[in-house]
Amino acid sequence: MEFRYKKIVFLTGAGISAESGVRTFRDTDGLWENHRVEDVASPQGFKRNPALVWKFYSLRRLQASEVQPNKAHVALADALHSLEQASVRALLITQNVDTLHERAFGALPNKNFIDIHGTLSRSRCTKCNKIFSDRWAYFNEEQQPAERHADHLWSNPSLTNLLSMPRRNPQGIPLSPCCSDLLRPDIVWFGERPHGVENAIEQLTSCDLFVSIGTSGNVYPAAGFAAVARKAGAHTVSINLEPTENSAAFHEHLHGLATEKVPDFLKKI
Ligand SMILES: [Zn+2]
Repeated sequence: MEFRYKKIVFLTGAGISAESGVRTFRDTDGLWENHRVEDVASPQGFKRNPALVWKFYSLRRLQASEVQPNKAHVALADALHSLEQASVRALLITQNVDTLHERAFGALPNKNFIDIHGTLSRSRCTKCNKIFSDRWAYFNEEQQPAERHADHLWSNPSLTNLLSMPRRNPQGIPLSPCCSDLLRPDIVWFGERPHGVENAIEQLTSCDLFVSIGTSGNVYPAAGFAAVARKAGAHTVSINLEPTENSAAFHEHLHGLATEKVPDFLKKI
């Protein structure tokens, strides 16, 4: 298979997962059970009430395990496989934490994938920052301590540090096996620095095609990636249901459903 490009960077956002039924806070006015998102998705919120935060993320893990990758995730995973076989360098950067890319891909090679906002399928020791693959929902829908697998969060056989049900404190909050200190979701919260931004920028400045899929163009740093790639000489394409806020950074705009536009577009590269 021949490709027109030598190095491609893909960026995905909530729009690629919407048709899988993944809901975002924008659907709920930024509230969860009358708590502000900042109370369940910030370091301050975790310090104040770690049980509330784990109730929220346990529920998100259960919800994520009930949805499936859609045609857009699958087409992208297939494209990454084909590109790799043709020795075209490709990087997938996602803003999503829903694990659907990993699940569409099977074993997603780490070097080709950056989840800049973290993922629901990992936890981290608050003391030493050790990362664990974590499929547990520590609280159930009734917000009671529970021990449930959010099983479909992955099908990735290459996972390391898979966590057996850890010890928990009297409030039901999981404790890390390494330090017996609190575990937290490996999610980038409000006020925290996204993962892998330096690496992303480096790749963006040397790519010849940049494709943004399902991003609204108003969450930084990702909203600035198209401009970086374009300045470096890449062709830039946006695939989204509606015009994006950073639309001036794109040469090409494809408006429509991700499950239709993404497979169509990938056939042409
Ligand atoms: Zn530790």
